[in-house]
Parts: sequence; structure tokens; C-alpha cells
Amino acid sequence: MDFELNEEQRMLRDMVRSFAQNEIEPVASELESRHEFPRDLLKKLANLGLMGMTVPAKYNGIKTDYLSLSITLEEISRSLPSLAVILSVHSSLFCYSVNKYGSEQLKSTYLPKAAAGEILGAFSLTEPGAGSDISALSTQAVRREGRFVLNGTKAWVSNGNDAGAFILFAQTEAGSGGKKLSAFLVDRETPGLRVSKIEEKMGLNASITTDLVLEDCEIPEDNLLGDEGKGASIALHCLDCSRIGIAAQSVGLAQRALDEAVAYSRQREAFGTTISQIQAIQFMLADIATLTEASRLLTYRAAALYDLEKPFSKAAAMAKLYASEAANKVAYQALQIHGGYGYSREFMIEQLYRDARVLSIYEGTSEIQRMVIARFLLKE
Ligand SMILES: Cc1cc2nc3c(=O)[nH]c(=O)nc-3n(C[C@H](O)[C@H](O)[C@H](O)COP(=O)(O)OP(=O)(O)OC[C@H]3O[C@@H](n4cnc5c(N)ncnc54)[C@H](O)[C@@H]3O)c2cc1C
Repeated sequence: MDFELNEEQRMLRDMVRSFAQNEIEPVASELESRHEFPRDLLKKLANLGLMGMTVPAKYNGIKTDYLSLSITLEEISRSLPSLAVILSVHSSLFCYSVNKYGSEQLKSTYLPKAAAGEILGAFSLTEPGAGSDISALSTQAVRREGRFVLNGTKAWVSNGNDAGAFILFAQTEAGSGGKKLSAFLVDRETPGLRVSKIEEKMGLNASITTDLVLEDCEIPEDNLLGDEGKGASIALHCLDCSRIGIAAQSVGLAQRALDEAVAYSRQREAFGTTISQIQAIQFMLADIATLTEASRLLTYRAAALYDLEKPFSKAAAMAKLYASEAANKVAYQALQIHGGYGYSREFMIEQLYRDARVLSIYEGTSEIQRMVIARFLLKE
């Protein structure tokens, strides 16, 4: 088994790492503290081709393997976890689903703009009354004179305020319990679509998350993705893949927390020595380094299985479960190593600790990942 990245993947990792150090680091904490969406950084990512990593060359993208996308998200997350989730939703959920399920017309209209960073994509599945249980979605899409008319309220839409287009899920048959869920592309300019609320969140503050209201929002029939009534399997397949991206975001966050803890332990003195010389601190560092590396291996394995076109869903759920929970443990211990200063906004670990919390919640909670894994175990 080969645990090495190939030359192209190493070059990409080094390029993204130096971009993160030179372009993201200098502005990251300012963006977070001002709750400012990183529009300039997204333009720069687009100039590097990184907004089109799931877009084929035919639509002006640089479609890479999933491991390359994971490495990119990991490196970006190390500097600004908010930017990693913005890019992950755009790439793994929006561009990926348009490319896989959209008509030729939708692909040629939206993918080149998405790859060029002219539009950002969002993915709107969750509703105020339905998160883990997508059969409870209540947004309706009704056919009328060759169009679909959408009505309902969506919740927790990452990129909601800035997206140029949304992948949006709605019931095409009332009371069907999710059996007639369908997926649509809704352009931002569609009359009847509006952002109703921006969430005040605990962390990831540079990633803006909104509610959406749809009131007699009419879209062309061609904006249906895949077959009518197949929305649930489209949502589950897209989330299977994008979970690998959230695992990668978790790895990057954990790595940064570890880096911060090592650096702090080397310079903080107590009892006449640096705290790095105290065995209790060394053990904490050893534990969090091991958690981080195990998360990375699970994440790369899930991405590699996807790239080899092998069954990857169980591996993706394991990677997401393990890496997101590990990132929380790592951030907790790394903050402990900082003592009282870890509780101060002046130290990055305080932000990482807050940012980590959502990783085991979005794109399927840890409980849902366990259900997915157990289902495979009992079927095997
Ligand atoms: C910052 C942020 C960004 C987000 N971005 C997006 C986005 O871009 N698009 C989008 O569609 N959604 C997004 N979400 C929504 C997110 O995916 C949901 O919050 C998540 O899926 C959980 O749904 P819920 O909040 O309704 O919790 P619920 O489903 O109500 O779950 C509540 C609790 O019950 C547990 N639970 C539920 N069912 C079971 C079960 N059968 N067995 C065991 N435990 C169970 C859950 O694990 C959880 O602990 C985002 C959320 C956040 C916080």
C-alpha cells in the first residue's frame, strides 16, 4: 500500500500551502473577527483554478482527483477553516451535482462561471423542521405550464448570502414522506427567492450561513437535476462525497491546533523550564498528533477509494466521524496547553476551538455517520 502523495499532489499541496501562508494568513483573523465573507480570497482561489476542481476541462475547470481536492481543503483549513467550508460546498456539493446530474444546458451555463469564480454555489437541503430526517422536508415544487413553482423555507444555507445559484431540494408530491423529493438548480436572480436571515454563529464567522424563503419562485423545467422524485438519492450521494471534504477540513483544523500547541509549549515557561519539557504536556502533544495523523489517513483513504471508483461510502462516513470528533479533542487539548491564554481571543486556538464544534454536526451529524457505518456492517 502506497501512503505517499504523487508528484502532482505534492506540488499542489505546496502551492496551496504557500498561498495560505502568503495570502490567507495575513487577513484570516481580521475576516473572522469582522464576520466578513472572504470575497477577495475567493477571486484569488479562482485565479489559481481552485474554484473549478470538480469542473471538467470542457467547462473551463481543472477537474482533479478527490485526494487533490481533499489536500487543498486541508491546507486552506489550516489557515482559515471558514474558507475551507465555503470552497467545499461550492466544489463538492454545487459544482459536483451540476456536473453529475444537470442537463447540458445547465452545465454549460453555470459550470464555466463557477470555475472562473464569477458565481459561487450553495446547496440547500436543510429546513427549519428537517435536518437529519430529509423525509420531513416540506418545501413544495409544483409543475405549472412547463415550469416548477417553489414555495417553502430553507435553513442553514452555507454561502447563502453570496451564492449565484443554489442546488435546492423540494417535494414534488405533497405528503410523500421524501419519496418524491427532487433536486433543482435555482438561480439567485429568480423572483420569489430571498435571504430572510443571517445566522449569528458560534464559529466559522467568515462563512456566512442564511435562511432562504421561496415564494412562488418559478424556475424552468430544465432546472430539475436528475429524475423527478430521485432527489433523496441525489442528496445522499452528493453528501457521501462531500463528507470527505469535511473530514479534510477537520484534518487541517486539527493540524493547526497541534502546530499552535507545539509552538506555545516551546515558549511558555513554568517551574523554571518551558512547559514543553513537562511530560504531561508532551503526552498531550503526542496524543493530539496521533489523532491528527489517524484522521488524515482515514480521509486520504476515503478519497483514494473514491478516485479508484471503489465503494467509498462507509470509508467516507468513518473519515468524517473520526476526523470531526478528533478535531474537537485536538482543539480541546491544544487549548488546555495554552492555559488561560487559550481562552483569550488574542490566540488562534480560541477560534479553532469554536470552529471545530460544527464539524461533527454539519453534512451529517456523528450519530448519522454511525448509522451509515452500522448499516454497512450489518449488510456485509
Ligand atoms: C454552520 C452550519 C452550516 C450548515 N450548512 C448547511 C448547508 O450548506 N446546506 C444544508 O442543507 N444544511 C446545512 N447545515 C445544516 C446541517 O447539515 C444540519 O444542522 C445537520 O444535518 C443536523 O440537522 P439538524 O440541525 O436539523 O439536527 P436534528 O436532525 O434535529 O438532530 C438533533 C440531534 O438528534 C440527533 N439525531 C437525529 N436523528 C437521529 C437518529 N435517527 N439517531 C440518532 N440520533 C439522531 C442528531 O444527531 C442531533 O444530535 C449547516 C449547519 C450548520 C450549523
